[in-house]
Amino acid sequence: MSRKTDRSKAIFQEAQRYLPGGVDSPVRSFRGVGGDPVVVASAAGSRITDADGNQYIDYCASWGPLILGHASQIVVDAVQAASKGLTYGAATEAEVELAKLVCGHVPSIEMVRFVSSGTEATMSAIRVARGFTGRSKIVKFEGCYHGHADGLLVQAGSGVATLSLPDSAGVPASYAAETLVAPYNDVDAVGALFERWGDEIAAVIVEPVAANMGVVPPAAGFLEMLRTFCSDNGALLIFDEVITGFRVGLGGYQASSGVMPDLTCLGKVVGGGMPVGAYGGRREVMHQVAPLGPVYQAGTLSGNPLAMAAGIATLTQLAQPGFYEALEVRAVRLSDGINAAIARHEVPACLSRVGSMMTLFFSDAPVTDYASARKADSERYARFFHGLLDAGVYFPPSQFEALFVSAAHTDADIDATIAAVDAALAAD
Ligand SMILES: *Cc1c(COP(=O)(O)O)cnc(C)c1O
Repeated sequence: MSRKTDRSKAIFQEAQRYLPGGVDSPVRSFRGVGGDPVVVASAAGSRITDADGNQYIDYCASWGPLILGHASQIVVDAVQAASKGLTYGAATEAEVELAKLVCGHVPSIEMVRFVSSGTEATMSAIRVARGFTGRSKIVKFEGCYHGHADGLLVQAGSGVATLSLPDSAGVPASYAAETLVAPYNDVDAVGALFERWGDEIAAVIVEPVAANMGVVPPAAGFLEMLRTFCSDNGALLIFDEVITGFRVGLGGYQASSGVMPDLTCLGKVVGGGMPVGAYGGRREVMHQVAPLGPVYQAGTLSGNPLAMAAGIATLTQLAQPGFYEALEVRAVRLSDGINAAIARHEVPACLSRVGSMMTLFFSDAPVTDYASARKADSERYARFFHGLLDAGVYFPPSQFEALFVSAAHTDADIDATIAAVDAALAAD
C-alpha cells in the first residue's frame, strides 16, 4: 500500500480507547473488509479527503443521503439558517414546507411526521400500525434492515413459520416473538404466515428494493402480493423507503412499482445529510398520532430547522427537470463499465443495480434473497475493496451494502472508477 496513513492510524488508535470499536456505527469500523478505517477530514462533491490528505472518489455517500454529493452548495447555503437559531422545539414554517414537498411527491403520503433518524421512523410507523389495527405481530423479511429498534433486529428461524430469535443481545425473546420473518421475495412464506397468524398481524414492513443485504430487487409480483395479503387480512403495508425514497425517483419505489403502502418510512436523502427521518401515510392512519390520536411519539429535535432547510434545498434540486434521467445516465455508465470488466476477467460476479444504487456480488449465482446474498465471497470483496481504496476509490466497506452514484460524480470520476475496478479484478 502506497498511501500515507500515519495520522489516520493514530486517530483511530485513540478512537478505540473512547468509542466502542472506535466508531459510532459498527460497519464504519471496516470489520467487514479488514484493515483500518478511513478517517475522514473533509469532503466536497464526489470526493472525501482523509486525515492524511488522501483523496477518494466516494460511492459510500454516507450510506445513501448524499444524492447531490458532498457539501452541495445549495444545501450548505440552506443550513446557513443556523444563524437564526439551531433549534426551537416549536412549530416552524420550514417543517410545513418540507411536509408539503414530501406529501406532493410521494403518492401514498397524505400526512407526515418528521423524526431524527430512519430508526425512529420505522419504530414509530410500527407503533402506529399496532395502534391502528389493535394487533401486535409484524412481518419482516430476512436480510431487510429497518434500523436498530428492538423488534426489528430479528433474524429468521430456520423454518418458514417459526418464531424468531433476537439478532442482538439485549433484545428480550418475548419482544422478538412479536416479529415474524419470511425470506425476501418468498410469497408462499408470507402466505403461510398469514394463514397461521392472519388476525394477529398488524403490519408487513419491507424494503421495496432490498438494499441492506446488497441491492436485491423485488421479484415480479412480490410487492403486489404483499399488498393483497395485507388488504385481505386487515394488516397495514409499510414500505421502508429510507434508502429508496427520493433515491430511485421523487415518488420513491412506490411510484415506480405502482404498489401503494399504507405507511412509508423515509430517511437519508430526505434530510440532505442532516439527521432526518419521517413516516407518513393515509390521513386516517396518521390521525392515530398524538396529539390527534392515542399513539404517542415525540422528539426534542424533530423537525429541526436546519434539517428541514437541508431537506427543502435537496428536494427542490431533485425536482429540477431531468435530474433523475441524468443520474441514471451516470449509473448506467458505471454499471456498463463494471460489467465489461467482470466479463473481460471472467470473474464469478454479478452487478445488481436499481437506478443509482448497486452492489457487485462476488457470486455467480443470481442473488434474490438473503440466503443467496450470503453465498457471495466476502473475502474476495475485501481484497477488491482494498484494491480500490489504494487506487483512490471508496466503495462501501462490506459486501452486503449498496454503493451510490450521485449527481456530483463526473464522467471522469466514473471512468477512473471503472479503470480501478478493472485493475482490482485483474489483480485477483
Ligand atoms: C439506514 C436505514 C434505516 C435506519 O436509518 P438510520 O437513520 O440509520 O436510523 C432504516 N431502514 C432502511 C431501509 C435503511 O437503509
